[in-house]
Amino acid sequence: MSDSIERVKCLIIGSGPAGYTAAIYAARANMSPVLYQGSQPGGQLTTTNEVENFPGYPEGITGPEMMVELRKQAERFETDVRDGWITRVDFSGPIHKVWVNETKEIHCDTVIISTGASAKYLGLPSEQKYLQLGGGVSACAVCDGFFYRNQEVVIVGAGDSACEEAHYLSKLCKKVTMLVRRDEFRASKIMEARVRNTENIDILFNTETEEVLGDGQVVTGVRVKNNVTGETRDLPATGFFVAIGHKPNTDIFKDYIELDKTGYIVNVPGTAKTNVEGVFVSGDAADHVYRQAVTAAGTGCMAALDAERYLAAKESYEEVEG
Ligand code: NDP
Repeated sequence: MSDSIERVKCLIIGSGPAGYTAAIYAARANMSPVLYQGSQPGGQLTTTNEVENFPGYPEGITGPEMMVELRKQAERFETDVRDGWITRVDFSGPIHKVWVNETKEIHCDTVIISTGASAKYLGLPSEQKYLQLGGGVSACAVCDGFFYRNQEVVIVGAGDSACEEAHYLSKLCKKVTMLVRRDEFRASKIMEARVRNTENIDILFNTETEEVLGDGQVVTGVRVKNNVTGETRDLPATGFFVAIGHKPNTDIFKDYIELDKTGYIVNVPGTAKTNVEGVFVSGDAADHVYRQAVTAAGTGCMAALDAERYLAAKESYEEVEG
């Protein structure tokens, strides 16, 4: 092996709650984990304002603060946290190879994939502005719905996620308006029926978002347009929820790791194992159902424990074989 190639026992890709939890467990098991943060250090939680549903924070904590705490905890046990973006992998042989920023090559005994998923947004400047400000744009009703209790909110999307989130919001909010861009839902019939039968959910078909309106700090409404009649109108709202799907960050693994038809990594049920020995997955990269910080952290723990057991079994086999 060339001198420039580094060898690590446990490489963790991604710095959300899954990656950091995997790091805490791997470090405490003497696996000397190296964690690459990726392009959004801290992951999706850094775009969340207040986290009130992660056990252990009775007063709540902001997403960015929580990620700083998780990083500190991982570093306390000597996780080597690095800046860098894993651009390529080769999982074809017994040694798992990864490249950082297309230049540095690392050979890994185990790899834990914690690259997460990215919520899709409409991409409107006004939406992005209030998202960055933490002023009322969210892609997670379960995380943020509570802040809009007894208020009026708008949600975009017509799939199962949008229906589930609209229904969740309807129990907290005074009124939920759903914007459906076609004249029909994409969601399953049962989910569609649930929103149709909820009194305080108003469904606007053939309706698209023109602009998220606000006072410069927080959202105050949404300008919508009927794409059949061309009519526009302003809906009052303090929250704008986007539920138009997620994209798992798994593209670089697709030649080696089994993915489902929407790109999520397929894990061996009940474990963090993938189809490649020594490569494990945690967090939203393999989860399109729960997508919570606490479930990501739980699977991060599973991935580290599975990796530790894999290494222990491999080491005892190598000892026996001499
Ligand atoms: P989907 O891809 O199923 O739906 C996305 C929705 O967003 C579609 O209705 C789509 O509209 C709409 N959309 C996309 N882009 C825009 C846009 N620019 N403007 C307005 N609307 C837009 O994503 P989901 O996250 O809902 O679901 C992903 C997968 O997870 C699915 O397989 C789903 O069944 C599953 N799931 C299952 C759940 C359950 O069973 N409890 C809960 C949540 C998800 P259009 O229809 O016009 O394309």
